[in-house]
Amino acid sequence: MALMRIVDTGKVFKHPVRCFRCDEAFYFTLRKIAEVQNLACPLCGSNINLADEAYGLVVAKVKEMIGLIDQSSGRLQATNNALR
Ligand SMILES: [Zn+2]
Repeated sequence: MALMRIVDTGKVFKHPVRCFRCDEAFYFTLRKIAEVQNLACPLCGSNINLADEAYGLVVAKVKEMIGLIDQSSGRLQATNNALR
């Protein structure tokens, strides 16, 4: 059915977030980066505190992307919300 084609782009697109302990970047979905304050590094398990100013730019950029996604899929989003 048509509804099954609706995808929340923010849950599909990913953005790298650097773990300063591993000194490596790992990909997390945009939606997750925008919504949570802490991520767990998939490699070392250490806490990635997105509230830290070191991540300010990344978080700001991701939130901007989420904003654009929500704007362009406004109608789909409304449908999604109604289904939740
Ligand atoms: Zn790590």
